[in-house]
Amino acid sequence: MSKRILIIMAMEAEARPVIDKLGLKEIPASPQLRSHFPRFQGEFEGKDIVISLNGKSVEHGVDRIGTEFAALNTQSAILEFAPDLIINAGTCGAFSADADIADIITSDQPVVYHDHRVPLEGFDRFAMGSYPTAYRPKYFQSIEHKLGVVTTGNSLDMPDVDKQWIIQNRGMAKEMECAAVASTAHLYGIDFLPIKSVTDHIDIELDNVEQFLNNLSKASHKLSDTLIRVLTNID
Ligand code: SAH
Repeated sequence: MSKRILIIMAMEAEARPVIDKLGLKEIPASPQLRSHFPRFQGEFEGKDIVISLNGKSVEHGVDRIGTEFAALNTQSAILEFAPDLIINAGTCGAFSADADIADIITSDQPVVYHDHRVPLEGFDRFAMGSYPTAYRPKYFQSIEHKLGVVTTGNSLDMPDVDKQWIIQNRGMAKEMECAAVASTAHLYGIDFLPIKSVTDHIDIELDNVEQFLNNLSKASHKLSDTLIRVLTNID
C-alpha cells in the first residue's frame, strides 16, 4: 500500500503554490464536520498526499491561524485519512543570527510551546509540552535546511517573557501551530515532521507584520519547492 502523507497548513497563501505544483484536487467536505477544513488530495511519486488547511473564519474572513484550529484540523484529518506521516508546513519567525528570510528550518528535537506558563509541579512541563519529531537526514538529502527547535505560541509579537523562554529552550523557529499538530500526531502515535520557511526576523526593528507581508510570497515558494523535494525523498 502506498504511504499516506498528511500535510497540515494554516494559511491558504502558504499552501497555494504546493497545491498547484502537485496538481492536487479539492475533495468534498466530510458531512460529519460542521467546520470545513479545505482538503486537497492526489498522488505524487507513489505516495498518497493530502493537504489540509485550517480554513477561513466565517466571522472575520481570514485564515484560522493558531493552535486551536490546527489541532481540530489534524485530528479530523487523522480520523478521515489514517496517515503514516504528518507534516506541518508553514512560515515562521527566526532570530537574524540563526536564519535568513526564506531559509528552511526543520527539527530533530521535540516541539515546545513558549507561551504556556503554569508554575505548578507537573503542570509546568505539561504546559510547555515536548512533542517528538521524526526527522531523517535522508528526507533532506541535498536540500539546504537548518535544524533547530520549533516553538509555538498564539501571538505574532514577542513580549520579553516569551523571548526569554524561546532563548532558554534554544528556539529557532517561532510560529503558531506546530506544537498543536505535533501533540495531536503524538496522541495517535503517528510520525511527525515540521517544515518551516522564515518570513520575518523577530529581533529587528521593522515590524513583524510588515516583514511578514513583504516576505510571505518568497517564503511560500521556497516552502513549496522544499516540500516537493522532501516528498520525493520519503520512501
Ligand atoms: N498578518 C498576516 C498573518 C500572519 S500570522 C496576514 O494578514 O496574512 C502568522 C502565521 O505565520 C501563523 O500561521 C504562524 O505560524 C506563522 N508565523 C510567521 N512568522 C511568525 C512569527 N514571527 N511569530 C508567530 N508566527 C509566525
